[in-house]
Amino acid sequence: MPRKLVVANWKMHGNLASNKQLLEAYIQKITPINNIDVVVCVPYPYLAQAQSMLQNTNIAWGAQNISKDAVGAYTGEVSAVMLKDFGARYVIIGHSERATAYCESDENIATKFAQAKAHGIIPILCVGETLIEREAGVMQMVVGKQLDTIINTYGAGVFANAVVSYEPIWAIGTGLAASSDQAQSMHEFIRGKVAVLDKSAAASLKILYGGSVNPQNAVQLFVMQDIDGGLIGKCSLNAQEFEGICRAAT
Ligand code: PEP
Repeated sequence: MPRKLVVANWKMHGNLASNKQLLEAYIQKITPINNIDVVVCVPYPYLAQAQSMLQNTNIAWGAQNISKDAVGAYTGEVSAVMLKDFGARYVIIGHSERATAYCESDENIATKFAQAKAHGIIPILCVGETLIEREAGVMQMVVGKQLDTIINTYGAGVFANAVVSYEPIWAIGTGLAASSDQAQSMHEFIRGKVAVLDKSAAASLKILYGGSVNPQNAVQLFVMQDIDGGLIGKCSLNAQEFEGICRAAT
């Protein structure tokens, strides 16, 4: 049974004082859980704080975005090398909140994915459909196209040891999670799509579910065969709720 992965996405929340409290609570509640992998993706300015507080624990840290470029005149961007300077092992890529608010194209997202991989940072690629697309029954086509942009440029092998997070846009922050059957069926589709081209990459790919996961619905989601863990927004800001979700993954 592969280890589950639970990733906290703090989004643009927190400050030095509140992060300290939250990370202390994570350390107290989550470090005793040894049979899963846990990551916290913090806003850029707090990478140093996460590094200094988490470096001797079993909780890894990461960022929520990465530049598609390696270095240069790109005001406001943060490169893979800079993330590595702060020990970031993971980076969220293509979150729908960014894709929508900052017009990130699938091509940009694919380049960011490749940048992360090239620098040994594990990309957490977010994919998912809108409610209109689900109601129209085209969700697999939409997610398939998001994956194709990466596969067509870099090949399916790039998904080896990477992470894809299925995040239906209608489920993010709405309190309305996908059912475990809806999520499992999309996860099976994602793994199958990679497996047709590269079986071993598909086997090492972790596929998370994200969208209104809470301690109550986590068990029924995590028990599904192709759900390897979760990407957690709101509930990651509460150490007790996040612990509940982590325990559901054990
Ligand atoms: C997210 O934004 O990645 C997310 C899953 O948020 P929430 O858990 O709040 O729905």
